[in-house]
Amino acid sequence: MSSITERKALIRNYFKENKNQIRKRIISLTTEMVKEKTVNVVSEKLPEFPYLKIRGEEYRVAEIVKRELDKSGIPFNEFSRMKGRPNVIGTLGKNKSGKRLLMPAHMDIVPAGEGWDSDPFEVYEKDDMLIGRGTLDNKGPLASILVAGQLMKEMGLDDEIEGQLQLAALSDEEAEDPDGIDYGIGFLMEEKHINPNYAIIPDIGGFMKEIDVAEKGRTVIKITAFGKQAHGSTPEKGINAVFMMARLVNEIEQMEFEYEEHPVLKAPSLNLGEMHGGAAPNIVPGKSYIYLDIRTVPGQTKEKVIAQLQACCDKVENGNFEIDCMSWNDPHGIDPDNVLVKAIQENSKEVLGFEPVPFGMGGGTYAKTLNLNNVIAVGWGPGDEDAFHVENEYVSIKELVDFAEMTLLVAVDLLS
Ligand SMILES: [Zn+2]
Repeated sequence: MSSITERKALIRNYFKENKNQIRKRIISLTTEMVKEKTVNVVSEKLPEFPYLKIRGEEYRVAEIVKRELDKSGIPFNEFSRMKGRPNVIGTLGKNKSGKRLLMPAHMDIVPAGEGWDSDPFEVYEKDDMLIGRGTLDNKGPLASILVAGQLMKEMGLDDEIEGQLQLAALSDEEAEDPDGIDYGIGFLMEEKHINPNYAIIPDIGGFMKEIDVAEKGRTVIKITAFGKQAHGSTPEKGINAVFMMARLVNEIEQMEFEYEEHPVLKAPSLNLGEMHGGAAPNIVPGKSYIYLDIRTVPGQTKEKVIAQLQACCDKVENGNFEIDCMSWNDPHGIDPDNVLVKAIQENSKEVLGFEPVPFGMGGGTYAKTLNLNNVIAVGWGPGDEDAFHVENEYVSIKELVDFAEMTLLVAVDLLS
């Protein structure tokens, strides 16, 4: 049995001596996975992608993942809610009663979109970057953790760690049908196929310099104003729902949320994203509705948010409103001083020369689903956050190699 220090020295030496070979492996695996057009869109848009029989078709990438795991003798499980949309989880370390660190990356991608300088599905290298749809989001990071797992096996470290490192290639991250059915992380958690203690989600960008420890909750709320239609020439005979809504919008703009400031997420936010009403200039509108996008912080509940909006409605004289909560997910935040964050910070400082900073996000990653299920999960990984979902998506090769090394160092710290 080696000590943690010995294990980490072994990893660092291995990377130093084999850097070129590791680079090549990550590049070739990313290139191969990008060729597979695992585009995930909502069912309604599927006809726009004639090469797709079903959403995502993640099995195409899963075949590559399974081949690589097999080649290295890494045991894996496959779980699918639907044929063609599998989730593959490779496990290193034999001790089932130790801690488990999950590294999930997703196999689906968003459509290529317009404006590319080259074929989005043929990766090319330029200035130490890999360019192509999915190189960053999320196939490059997936290749990085897979190669990390293979190296762990090659170094014999899987026999040394006391817990388990779980490398997960998941389906269904990029789009959600209106039925809300999830084929990826949600499915795995619901069916209890995974039960990690810690998770690192390499899907946020930030060049590995930021650790996502908290995410706001998101709710979409529709408010409808009910008036009474009448002829435009006799507005006094009707009740103008748009005027009514305008008064409510004024109240909402002035509303201040009741909340406690969160150390990382700070304050909640509200956006009035859509406002509709009226059919023609000569009709008094009988109905008007708005959509609000509200991002909440821990402590704000659905009941409290709706009560505040109701109070705004009540202030409008002769108002007649209906509030509908179209979707709701809770905010989450973990203590930035926990052992997972510390392990990432300390290893980064030692190896990469910088210490990533905990921060909070307004959007949502897998970390939310996991944290809300009591897993200590953070977002952390390579890449530029502005390169997600845009043309000429790119990722730094050096960062992918560094991330593989960091995966192993953090795993050794957490699982020893
Ligand atoms: Zn992603």
